[in-house]
Amino acid sequence: MSSGVEYVRREVRQMAGYSPGHQPLPGSKVIKLNTNESPLPPSPAVVQAISKVLADSPLLRRYPDPQSMELRRVAAAIAGCRVEQVIAGNGSDELLRILLDTFIEEGEKVAFFSPSYSLYPVLTKIRGGAVQVLPLFQDGLLYQPRLDDAKLFFLTTPNAPLGFSFTNDYIRQMASNLNGILVVDEAYADFAQENALPLLAELENLVILRTLSKSYGLASLRVGLGFASAALIEQLEKVRDSYNLDRLAQVGARAALEDQEYLRETVALVVSERERLASVLQEIGFTVAPSQTNFIFVTPPSPYKAAELYAGLEKAGILVRYFSDPQLFHGLRISIGTRDEMDQLIMTMKNLMQIGDLK
Ligand code: PMP
Repeated sequence: MSSGVEYVRREVRQMAGYSPGHQPLPGSKVIKLNTNESPLPPSPAVVQAISKVLADSPLLRRYPDPQSMELRRVAAAIAGCRVEQVIAGNGSDELLRILLDTFIEEGEKVAFFSPSYSLYPVLTKIRGGAVQVLPLFQDGLLYQPRLDDAKLFFLTTPNAPLGFSFTNDYIRQMASNLNGILVVDEAYADFAQENALPLLAELENLVILRTLSKSYGLASLRVGLGFASAALIEQLEKVRDSYNLDRLAQVGARAALEDQEYLRETVALVVSERERLASVLQEIGFTVAPSQTNFIFVTPPSPYKAAELYAGLEKAGILVRYFSDPQLFHGLRISIGTRDEMDQLIMTMKNLMQIGDLK
């Protein structure tokens, strides 16, 4: 008997779906360091703005602004560009999908480094594009490929899951080596020292993606932002869903962007806990990849195995991210939490490794 599955497109049938980090049920008592969310709640201004909409319930009958204009205006002011150079998405994940739908015909190449964000190949296959995976390093140096036939290149900077940033010189070179569009996925740029926004005026084939899911503590609202030339944004705008951001998301995201002081405080806390965790783990023998993000990628010293430490931490109620990918299975990606959460992680890790307090 037919199950109906034979009618599913071949690309979809043959692919594995994206596998997101585990999201425990609300109320579960776990320390959640597995999906790079903010350790802090969003700015109180976000809650105020959303509550105001909820208090005026007749407003909820109405469709939201299809163009997310107010949100885009604030985003443009912060980025130092025109509102016509900004697109708002239902998470930057939606913006990735819009980019693929806008630029990629069936069989055209979409390139990216491995390791980087594991959603890129999934979305490319759904679109029917051809995945071109490139190594991050060649002869121990960052690879600077020259690509004539990739229509899109997704460059994650800072890199996830390793945490280092590409320089703007690298990005400039990459954009000119490419006969297509360079998408710089800056999901973690608020934690970094440099970002690509200054290149926007200079490079026609550049798209920059940001998200409010990390530094702004708003992963639940699903808001991403894209920056590019007005000419490119005009095309992308045609491809998105008409009401891609709901009213609460638009209002909440705008309030978050308007509270830049709160962003600076959050980033300062995360960066200081990141450096503290990195140095404690180094002291007990871990190799820690230098990070410009809100997570660190760490490799335990021999004879400890990342998979075993991951399981031990999970048993103790601490979720971190383990990737079975052959390039990453030696390590763990740990999101930066509050000071307390980092203390608990350190204590549990030392227990698992049977290390007494070194101090
Ligand atoms: N890009 C990268 C590199 C990410 O790590 C993530 C979050 N997993 C995203 C994009 C997607 O973020 P959003 O929540 O805005 O969809």
